[in-house]
Amino acid sequence: MPEVYNWHLGRKAYYPYQEAHPRWQFAFVFNTNRCIACQTCTMACKSTWTFSKGQEYMWWNNVETKPFGGYPQFWDVKGLQLLEEANPGGQIWSRNLRSKEAPHGKYEGVTIFEAAKKSPQREEVAVGYLPTEEEWRFPNIYEDTGVALPGKSGWWGKGAQLPEHQSWFFYLQRLCNHCTYPACLAACPRKAIYKRPEDGIVLIDQKRCRGYRKCMEQCPYKRPMFRTTTGVSEKCIACYPRIEGKDPLTNGLPMETRCMTACVGKIRLQGLVPIDGDGQWATERYNPLYYLVRVARVALPLYPQFGTEPNGYYIPPRWVPRAYLHQMFGPGVDEAIERYIAPDRELLAVLQLFRTDQRIIFRYKIEPGEKVFETTINGKKWEMYNDTAIGLDRDGKEIVRVKVEEPIHVRPDKHYNSI
Ligand code: SF4
Ligand code: SF4
Ligand code: SF4
Repeated sequence: MPEVYNWHLGRKAYYPYQEAHPRWQFAFVFNTNRCIACQTCTMACKSTWTFSKGQEYMWWNNVETKPFGGYPQFWDVKGLQLLEEANPGGQIWSRNLRSKEAPHGKYEGVTIFEAAKKSPQREEVAVGYLPTEEEWRFPNIYEDTGVALPGKSGWWGKGAQLPEHQSWFFYLQRLCNHCTYPACLAACPRKAIYKRPEDGIVLIDQKRCRGYRKCMEQCPYKRPMFRTTTGVSEKCIACYPRIEGKDPLTNGLPMETRCMTACVGKIRLQGLVPIDGDGQWATERYNPLYYLVRVARVALPLYPQFGTEPNGYYIPPRWVPRAYLHQMFGPGVDEAIERYIAPDRELLAVLQLFRTDQRIIFRYKIEPGEKVFETTINGKKWEMYNDTAIGLDRDGKEIVRVKVEEPIHVRPDKHYNSI
């Protein structure tokens, strides 16, 4: 069985299926610091794709409150427990082994595929479990429920002081990660799951699927869901007609998905990244996703230790205890938060591009502006410039232009009390 290179882990990893890389990869970055849990994204997906009979409990996009919330319930705790059982105490990272190919260091533990290989009696390609019906019932259980850690001066202590709050929660936005090494695809005995060569979107062939639910069992993110009325599994389809430019709104240009474009908090940026001959993200320095993930390294994969190389990335919440975040996003957390708290000019400009246009931004340019603000962050001088971020479409045409400082519009008196 082939070994694949997983850059999230900084090493080769066992993947029990033939690796196949697309020409482009569907990917996204979420800024957890900005999410207000309005669930507009959730409803945008629901009202487009899963409003029919048999799909009542199906939420391809959901936003859960961490640490207690989960859909299905405790999906991540259960997945982490399976890794721990296979390799007790071994889920650690060697941060000192950082390099260009391993920007966050090397993962010394086992992935879901390697954990299954360690137990030869297991027949599955990956360790996993099938959630019970009850666990799927509550897409937003424990909403806004925080955890309180005992502080120096009692339970609540100095609860609201950075860098880590003693009492905290945060919102985690989730959908299928359209992984580079999908466990769902490797697990399917019917070979009903495939990764599209044109954009890396992972789909379940509804005609081939027989509802064995191996994908549900072995996807560590628990994104495939079973439909009782048809007896087959379904999952996020990355709104592929939009990615193909089939929506009349964009005149043939690739368009961001429903859950991405609906985002009220402007936390989402989704796009396509070119893939090189080695199956890695091609060096496309001014693709906003490439920049955020590979250059600024401010956005990190969700549970990289699972080993599927997910293509969803998260700017971690700045107030949450770091040990929790290290487990969730890997060892790059401190560096990512440090960069996010005091962004350089380029990062600050690119962060303005989130949710500015429905068309996919393939490249960006920055026009320098004047200095507008100065302060001290963590003892260091920090300056803000009113630069302009310009987003370009697939053909290199400008589609959006946004300044760092939001313009203030004063309503003239004649519009007072009118819309
Ligand atoms: S998140 Fe799960 S369902 Fe989606 S591609 Fe990865 S393994 Fe498959
Ligand atoms: S990408 Fe489309 S199908 Fe997938 S969760 Fe978002 S809205 Fe739903
Ligand atoms: S629409 Fe945006 S802000 Fe609202 S819950 Fe979804 S990700 Fe968060």
